[in-house]
Amino acid sequence: ARVVDPGGNDDERRFEAALRPKRLADFPGQPRVSSQLALVLEAARRRGAPPDHVLLSGPPGLGKTSLAMIIAAELEQPIRITSGPAIQHAGDLAAILSSLAEGEVLFLDEIHRMARPAEEMLYLAMEDFRVDIIVGKGPGATAIPLQLPPFTVVGATTRAGLLPAPLRDRFGFTGHLDYYSGADLATILHRSAALLGVDCTPDGISEIASRSRGTPRIANRLLRRVRDYAQVHGSGIVDLEAARSALALFDVDVSGLDRLDRGVLEALCKRFAGGPVGLTTLAIAVGEEPDTVETVVEPYLVREGYLIRTPRGRAASDKAWEHLGLTPPEPAVT
Ligand code: ATP
Repeated sequence: ARVVDPGGNDDERRFEAALRPKRLADFPGQPRVSSQLALVLEAARRRGAPPDHVLLSGPPGLGKTSLAMIIAAELEQPIRITSGPAIQHAGDLAAILSSLAEGEVLFLDEIHRMARPAEEMLYLAMEDFRVDIIVGKGPGATAIPLQLPPFTVVGATTRAGLLPAPLRDRFGFTGHLDYYSGADLATILHRSAALLGVDCTPDGISEIASRSRGTPRIANRLLRRVRDYAQVHGSGIVDLEAARSALALFDVDVSGLDRLDRGVLEALCKRFAGGPVGLTTLAIAVGEEPDTVETVVEPYLVREGYLIRTPRGRAASDKAWEHLGLTPPEPAVT
């Protein structure tokens, strides 16, 4: 597992629960989504009715699950948590929907991965607070409508574009989460350090923030590694020296690139003269599957402008050459 992986594993999620902000006022960053949500929730509270269904989209590790829990806390309602891949049959969803209490929040993570028949059942439930329970099979099957109490769906997706339009349209409010600024990550890290009971210095925290790829989950993970380092090799304080040494040990460079990222850029520059080169050839050169290079490594390199995707393949940008301390070849004179 990469220390800069924006996704979390189950073990980590248990630990993360302790670091999640509980209320909107404690949730740093995402000012636009936060203030829009605050308005939607306050209006619902004043009306005494559940708010519109909420769709949260954005890359992994930016706080979609945290925000879903915050929505329930702000509404003072319980939350039921499930995910698209866990709902493979319409019956799975019917069982959940028919047991929801009035006003309850239903959090559907990875909503784009729900099975199609369940998706269709969800349209109706979101719009009319109704499910049709099908009894029997074949020509004799009948649909028995079941009225549901009003509730709120909070859907989360890393791929909003994959959601069918009819499902997307049933969300009255959509919030798109963006990568965090260094200053917001520093605020998050100070809070996490306090919760973990770790002493830190502002420059130690800024160093971690600047290598965290705009992602709170990565920031919190790096903080834990720096804390370990400070406890074993230093004074126990997360300071600049501990941050630099620990992140060098874990191979996370000043821009947040790890060994795999640099391996891809080095192969591109040194073996293919900066490209363009096809994805499969590039993947073979670094000993990885093309899919891993495309979905795990490339998004951050493209977003930060190190790697360019062209119709003829992948190419290194000037920034990549500079980052590796290499000189690009002179363009051929024709
Ligand atoms: P995934 O899509 O992988 O489920 P996610 O977008 O739902 O990720 P969360 O699980 O909410 O992300 O957040 C991951 C970790 O980052 C949690 O430990 C959470 O505490 C922390 N985190 C995310 N956003 C913030 C924030 N704005 N302030 C403080 N901590 C945050």
